[in-house]
Amino acid sequence: MGSDEALEVLRRVFGYDAFRGRQQDIIEHVIGGGDALVLMPTGGGKSLCYQIPALVRDGTAVVVSPLIALMQDQVDALTALGVRAGFVNSTLDYDSRRAVEAQFVGGDLDLLYLAPEALATSSTLRLLERGRIGLFAIDEAHCVSQWGHDFRPDYLNLSMLHERWPDVPRIALTATATTATHKEIATRLGLTDARHFVSSFDRPNIQYRIVAKQDPRRQLLDLLRTEHRDDAGIVYCLSRASVEKIADFLKDNGIPALPYHAGLDARTRADNQSRFLREDGLVMVATIAFGMGIDKPDVRFVAHLDLPKSVEGYYQETGRAGRDGLPSTAWLAYGLQDVVQQRKLIDGSEGDAAHRRGLAQHLDAMLALCETVECRRVQLLAYFGEQSGPCGNCDTCLSPPESWDGTVAAQKLLSTVYRLHKERNQKFGAGQCIDILLGKKTDKVVQWHHDELTVFGVGADLREADWRAVIRQLLAQGLLAVEGDYGTLVLTEASGEVLGRHRQVMLRREPERPVSAAKTAKV
Ligand code: ADP
Ligand code: ZN
Repeated sequence: MGSDEALEVLRRVFGYDAFRGRQQDIIEHVIGGGDALVLMPTGGGKSLCYQIPALVRDGTAVVVSPLIALMQDQVDALTALGVRAGFVNSTLDYDSRRAVEAQFVGGDLDLLYLAPEALATSSTLRLLERGRIGLFAIDEAHCVSQWGHDFRPDYLNLSMLHERWPDVPRIALTATATTATHKEIATRLGLTDARHFVSSFDRPNIQYRIVAKQDPRRQLLDLLRTEHRDDAGIVYCLSRASVEKIADFLKDNGIPALPYHAGLDARTRADNQSRFLREDGLVMVATIAFGMGIDKPDVRFVAHLDLPKSVEGYYQETGRAGRDGLPSTAWLAYGLQDVVQQRKLIDGSEGDAAHRRGLAQHLDAMLALCETVECRRVQLLAYFGEQSGPCGNCDTCLSPPESWDGTVAAQKLLSTVYRLHKERNQKFGAGQCIDILLGKKTDKVVQWHHDELTVFGVGADLREADWRAVIRQLLAQGLLAVEGDYGTLVLTEASGEVLGRHRQVMLRREPERPVSAAKTAKV
């Protein structure tokens, strides 16, 4: 059984000819009553992996999803295909809720979508006892991971599903998948006997580009005007304030943009989201509050104006581009200030030392991706445990950066930090160090007698932008650190190896013509 019936449902109900990737294996396994943990990139086709078993198996499939705002859309889409689906969450009024419950108890639902918090209530559990459940699907399963930024405490409770309904198969699905998250999901959900289905995380149609931040608004505008005119896309910013500012800036420049962040009222958020989904060519300027579960196939670009906190976050967010398989751009502008800001956030974050260490490791991996001279995709996939060769479709493949021996530059910079911080116990950030190295007699330099330091002017062979790149990369390599609210530069243990001339420092030289500029020239 299984195989023929599943294919028949795929064609008759969903109107597709063939399964994609590992869909067929997964679906057959679940129809046969097995547990499954499915790791598939965004756009890979996870929904069918539980929707088809829901239709083939007896009873109702209960789908746990944190995406309350999207449940109505999902149910509408299924209903339009003739599938009997309903949902229960806090947005439903009393009568609608009673109607869905009656359908479920009467055996008239193929799928019932539930919010995880609903499963924590005894009334929902009593309801579930009264119907017949054929399958549990746990969508966005990485929400159980306490390390991820999507953590939902109610997901921890889901391991009880197996205790209460030991004979009902479970399928957990996610697009996030470092080996660590993957293991954590299996453990926390009690999926001990589940088969793991891991798909490649490569998104070959996405072109990855990471550029040095100079004038980020101009850089963004250039990208949109020269390569993505009239395209739909998402621009991610870290703060609500910058979301508003960038959305206004784009509108002032004739680009239809909408803001989205948690500070907007629910109504505005819902309106902006549905306009983005339904209208063509809108740009959503958003915090990371936007995007999980959004199924808009023709998002042509995802731009980041601030550094994501982790490679996983970066992969998730950029993964919202190009679900239709057509060429798309993932563009990130990143600068020294991003590193300073993120370190500050980590230092000030709640939680114990282990938690902060975890955050710092995530950031370090993200910085390594930004500063790599190798193929971005190779590095990205390696982070998810996949090996691959140079892709030919990222900025470092298309316009390879040179690396240069930055040992002497690093020594100059680190001795400046040594003089200021270690010898004089003064707290200065990147700007002052660069002025000293360049030999600039600014008021602040003169006032602090920094023009009397032996390092004054020893770095005049490099430009200011070069020094910023040096500092950024030393931070990324852990050879330098920042501290406190003003981004004071301080030495690390490893700095000593460079100062003591025991360690060579290789740095990345920014390409003269970044990929975007090459394309701009054609227009
Ligand atoms: P995910 O949840 O993994 O991000 P979805 O389940 O939303 O992905 O599927 C992404 C898109 O691919 C949807 O538009 C879906 O209809 C389509 N799709 C999924 N499976 C197939 C298939 N076998 N053939 C054709 N299209 C498919
Ligand atoms: Zn590449």
